Amino acid sequence: MTENMEKFRPREFTGLAVNSGKVIGPACLYSAEHHKSVKELRIAESETPAELANFENALRACTLELETSAISVASKVGKAEAEIFLTQKHIMNDAVIVDQIRAAIAKDRKNAEFAVFEAFSRYEEKFMAMENSYLRERAADIGELRRLLLDKINKTKPKFACEGQEHCQLGKNRVIVAEELTVDMMARMNFEKVRGLVTEHGGVSSHAAIIARSLGIPAVSGVRDIMRYVKCGDRVLLDGDKGIVYLNPSDELMARVMPPIEAAEKEDAVALVSPHGMEVQANASGIDDVLQARAANADGIGLFRTEIFFLKEDRLLDEDEQYAFYSRVADGLPGKTVTFRLLDVGGDKPLPFLRIKKENNPYLGWRGARFLLGNPDILSMQVRALVRLSKRQKVRILFPMVVDAAQQGKLIDAVREIIVTGQGRSENIELGVMFEVPSACLQARELYKQIDFGSVGSNDLIQYLFAVDRTNEQVSDGYDPHHPILWSILQDLVVAAHEAGKGLSICGEMAGREGMVERLLAIGISSLSVSPRLIGQVRREMVRYAAGKK
Ligand code: PEP
Ligand code: MG
Repeated sequence: MTENMEKFRPREFTGLAVNSGKVIGPACLYSAEHHKSVKELRIAESETPAELANFENALRACTLELETSAISVASKVGKAEAEIFLTQKHIMNDAVIVDQIRAAIAKDRKNAEFAVFEAFSRYEEKFMAMENSYLRERAADIGELRRLLLDKINKTKPKFACEGQEHCQLGKNRVIVAEELTVDMMARMNFEKVRGLVTEHGGVSSHAAIIARSLGIPAVSGVRDIMRYVKCGDRVLLDGDKGIVYLNPSDELMARVMPPIEAAEKEDAVALVSPHGMEVQANASGIDDVLQARAANADGIGLFRTEIFFLKEDRLLDEDEQYAFYSRVADGLPGKTVTFRLLDVGGDKPLPFLRIKKENNPYLGWRGARFLLGNPDILSMQVRALVRLSKRQKVRILFPMVVDAAQQGKLIDAVREIIVTGQGRSENIELGVMFEVPSACLQARELYKQIDFGSVGSNDLIQYLFAVDRTNEQVSDGYDPHHPILWSILQDLVVAAHEAGKGLSICGEMAGREGMVERLLAIGISSLSVSPRLIGQVRREMVRYAAGKK
C-alpha cells in the first residue's frame, strides 16, 4: 500500500455511545497541554512574593473564567449544566487546597507551578482511590482544574492541533476529535459549527458528556487510539447510536449508515405535533429546560427533577420559595401537564448540605422514597408547596425510588393528609410512581391500585436490574438498554398499566435514543419524556411510526 493509500485507509473504531445521532464531517483535532512533567524548583526567599503573586493571579483568572463559562453555558445550554462550572470554581478555591499551595510556595519555597501540580495531584489520587464510582469520576474534574491553573501559570492554552495548516477545518462544519472531552473545552468551543465529538477517554456520565447531550451533539467517547490514526481534515462518520466511528468511510458505507438528508428535511415540518394517541414530553431540571420544551412544543413535562433546584441553591428551600419556583415552572408551559418528582436525593445526587451520614454504598442507601419517609418535614414542606399550586392548576406528583406498595402507601398517606389539611384540590392532583427499582416493577399491579400513573426510570432500572453502575465507564458494556430481560419487564409494565386503565410513560434516557422510539411504541408505551433538545427528533420518529401503521 502506498503512503497516500495508507493515509486514507478506512478504519472502524468502537467506543461508548455518549449521545445519539449520525453525522459526517472533516476531522478537526483538539489538543490540550498535559503538564505531565512539572519540574520542582527551589526558589530563593526573595522570589516567593513574585511566585505567590503568580499563583494568586492564575487563581483569580481561572475563577473569573469559570464564572464567565457558567454564564455562557447557562444561556447556551442550561442552568443545571452551568452549575458544573460553579462547582469547579468552589473546588478550585477550596481553602484547604489553596492554603496548602500558598504554604508550599511561602514556607517550602517551591515554585508555583510545582506547588499547584503537587496539591491537585494529591487530591486527584485520593479521589481516584475512592470506592464510590461517582466520586472516583470526579478525579477527572480535579485533574482538569490542575490543568487550567497550570495553563494560566505557563501561559499555555488548549488549541486546535492543525490550526493554520493546509487541511485546517477550524470555523467549518466539523467533527472534533480529542483525547478528552473536558468541561473547559466544551465551554470554549463555538458549537454552532461542531457536528460531532469523538474522544479517546471519558465516561458516558462525565460532566462533559452531560453537556454534549444537552447540546444535542452526537458524541462517541472511549475510542482508544483514534488520535494515532486520524489526521486533520480526514472524513469522519460518527454513529452516536451505536458508538461507532468510521475514519475515511467509503461512499457505499456512508450511504448505508446515513439517512437520506432530503427525507429528514421534509420531516421537519411535522416535528411540532405528536401523532394522535402519542406524546413527547420533556425532562427538565430548571426554567431554561422548560422554556426549551415550550419552544419545541412539548406535550408536557414528564419529569421535573426538583432536587436540582435544591442542589443549585445549596440549601433547603422553604414552602414559599418552593411554591414560587414551581409556579414559574408551571407558567413556563401554560396549559400543559407538569410532573414534579419529589426530591430524589442520594446515590448519584447527594445534596451536600443535608450532611447525610457517610454510606458504603449510597446507591443502595438512604435515598429516594426512603429519604423522604425518613425526613417527614422535608417531605411535607415540598408537598405543601405543590398542593398550593394545585389550587390553581393540575399538578402531577411523582414518587422516586419506590421499592414496593407498602412504601408507596406511606408516601400516599403523607400526601393525602397534606391535601386535606392544606385544603388542596385533590381532583387537581395526580400521584404517580417511578418504576426504577426491579421490586416495584414486579409489584406493578399492586402499585397501580394506589396511584394514577407510572413512569419508567430506565436509567436506574437498568442499573439495579443488571447490578451495573450507571456512572462507571468500565462496566458500560453491561449497561444494556437492548437487553431482553429489560424489555420483558417493560412489556409486563404495559400490561399492568393497561389492566389498571392508567398511564405509563418512560422518562429514562433510552427513550431519546434513536431506534428506541419505534420499539417503545410497538410494545405500547406511547408517552415518552426526553431531554428538550431531542423532542423534535423523537417526534419525527413517532410520525414515521404512525404513518407506517396506516
Ligand atoms: C431514571 O432513573 O431513569 C430517571 C429518569 O431518573 P434519574 O436519571 O434522575 O435518576
Ligand atoms: Mg432515577
